Amino acid sequence: MEFAIARERMVADQLRARGITDARVLTAMGRVPRHRFVEEALAARAYGDYPLPIGEKQTISQPYMVALMTQALELVGGERVLEVGTGSGYQTAILAEVAGKVYSIERIRGLADRARAILEELGYYNVLIHVGDGTLGWREEAPFDAVLVTAAAPEVPSPLVEQVKPGGRLVIPVGGSTAQILKCLVKGPDGTVRESELVGCVFVKLVGEQGWQG
Ligand code: SAM
Repeated sequence: MEFAIARERMVADQLRARGITDARVLTAMGRVPRHRFVEEALAARAYGDYPLPIGEKQTISQPYMVALMTQALELVGGERVLEVGTGSGYQTAILAEVAGKVYSIERIRGLADRARAILEELGYYNVLIHVGDGTLGWREEAPFDAVLVTAAAPEVPSPLVEQVKPGGRLVIPVGGSTAQILKCLVKGPDGTVRESELVGCVFVKLVGEQGWQG
């Protein structure tokens, strides 16, 4: 119950108040129990306005950033979405609420296993998690209606652009290792790509063949 109240406050104070308007995203953020995706010792801080550690030197992103990135994908329901960087699985759950099926790739096996277990426990059966290098995308399941990258890339990995359907969107933080810009790429029906910048941000590194070297 306490958590439900904290979640309602998070939606009102951190999301609506800062301009998140997509009703489906707001509903998802109000439903998913974020405290279940962090260690028990951090559960009381799960609805705070900041990222939190999830082990392996990785983080669960700030609620506002999760909402902003999801809103930028402009999902209406039923889409096939690729997520790169499963981490705790929290963003995966938000995507599972607003899209049809989520394909999520995580490079660290321990995180992927933990995320898979909690997502199953919570009943998110429309999620597939794969351990590997997400900078290469997921060729067997491509193309996707939308791609969301939750780690910072030095440049947009070309396999991810290739794996977006015409009319689809790719949202990704791009920049140096300490600060980045959140970018939204929209692929037109003819395959041309239009890019816009959403906000400054700080993410952990996207490590892989088309990212930073580990
Ligand atoms: N969305 C996550 C959440 O809600 O908890 C937070 C993700 S965390 C900021 C970034 C994640 O990207 C880390 O778990 C990291 O291991 C993962 N990562 C980094 N490089 C990757 C790659 N090449 N492929 C897949 N995952 C990667």
